[in-house]
Amino acid sequence: MTSITNHMPTAELQALDAAHHLHPFTHGSDLAKKGVRVITRASGSTLTDSEGNEFLDAMAGLWCVNLGYGRPELAEAAARQMKELPYYNTFFQTTHVPAIALSARIAELTPGDLNHVFFASSGSEANDTNMRLVRTYWEQKGKPSKKIIISRKNAYHGSSMGSASLGGMSAMHAQGGLPIPDVHHIEQPHWYAEGGDMSPEEFGLERARQLEQAIHDLGEDNVAAFIAEPIQGAGGVIIPPETYWPEIQRICDAHEILLIADEVICGFGRTGKWFGSQTLDIRPDIMTIAKGLSSGYQPIGGSVVSDEVARVMDECEFAHGYTYSGHPVACAVALENLRILDEEGIVERAGTETAPYLKEKWETLTDHPLVGEARIAGLMGSIALTPHKESRAKFAAEAGTAGLICREACFGNGLVMRHVGDRMVISPPLVITKDEVDTLIERAWTALDVAHKRLTDEGLMKAAS
Ligand SMILES: *Cc1c(COP(=O)(O)O)cnc(C)c1O
Repeated sequence: MTSITNHMPTAELQALDAAHHLHPFTHGSDLAKKGVRVITRASGSTLTDSEGNEFLDAMAGLWCVNLGYGRPELAEAAARQMKELPYYNTFFQTTHVPAIALSARIAELTPGDLNHVFFASSGSEANDTNMRLVRTYWEQKGKPSKKIIISRKNAYHGSSMGSASLGGMSAMHAQGGLPIPDVHHIEQPHWYAEGGDMSPEEFGLERARQLEQAIHDLGEDNVAAFIAEPIQGAGGVIIPPETYWPEIQRICDAHEILLIADEVICGFGRTGKWFGSQTLDIRPDIMTIAKGLSSGYQPIGGSVVSDEVARVMDECEFAHGYTYSGHPVACAVALENLRILDEEGIVERAGTETAPYLKEKWETLTDHPLVGEARIAGLMGSIALTPHKESRAKFAAEAGTAGLICREACFGNGLVMRHVGDRMVISPPLVITKDEVDTLIERAWTALDVAHKRLTDEGLMKAAS
């Protein structure tokens, strides 16, 4: 095991962290008791902590390190740009080369006539931009009553006031006065958990038609847009039935509303093509991008809009922007990331070689007694933990109990896999090798065994009635 000498002992780091660092999406005092894990280095798909333990990162950080860790070219791109022009803004009639080059490159990569980029520093910011943008768009077109944005329960669109309101996470809405007005949530296309006795195909249509019903009930004159992730990520990697997106697309085409595809996770190769909209045959008017755009090496996101949306927005001054919209260092790093993903054929290989290999292996996990289903699209997958396979039963214990036990078993076994309630999710770097896929599956299987034993010993293998 490599020794690490460039920092203080782990216990001291943990004590300082507990004393001064407030963590996102974490129960602070619980964490302080357990002691936080300090990640010190990473390379490829492997993380190293302050004790020298290594983990296979099947989450690519938070769904973002598509290129894998440790690419010196990105560090060099950042250093080069910092020396030349570390910062300038894109407000008030100015611009700079990295923002120009990156927006042109994104326009080339994105499908259809999505040719114009409004930059932000994160997915949350980009979705806040989208909220203001679609409403301003309709005001410009003389239809100011079109304000409502339809979204879905259990969607994730970010953590700011606007984007968390767009999202449909009940635990987030329970805190801080969310959602803000004029956001309406329909049900998600989650057949395994909510499909009952319907076939997935029937259920997909039923859930899609809720959009048409909502447009009807709210009044088409009041609806600005529908926003959705092509495949829900943070909600548990929920791959919709095949009937779902064609019907959603039909409904969006038949009505005067904008379609926003939140590609923050699905974009940049995650689903096996450059964008989830290509994998699922969606034609959005606006795309939200972030995460894989820079593979997480720099914070950057954006809204990519169609020719028509840009044309209408160009007729006014959009009173909106962030100090760091199109930050030159972030743009330079994102450009280098896109260059490597393309020139080394990483997106291509992820789709044509790694994804089919991973799918075959991932689906073998359904043979495990704890697993109710295993689904995967490209390099994003999930398994449902269940006390009773045949009935797709939930656990009697509080949701997330089994998931947390399984996640801890993964960590104990050198694998980072996340839990969303009682689903386990993966989203590995696109550069994961076939050998590493084998390791991922072996470690997942062992962790499932450990979790199964613990759940059995603690009397938790009971179905909810
Ligand atoms: C992560 C995520 C966001 C928010 O991005 P941040 O950079 O964390 O603000 C938005 N949409 C989706 C689909 C995401 O997964």
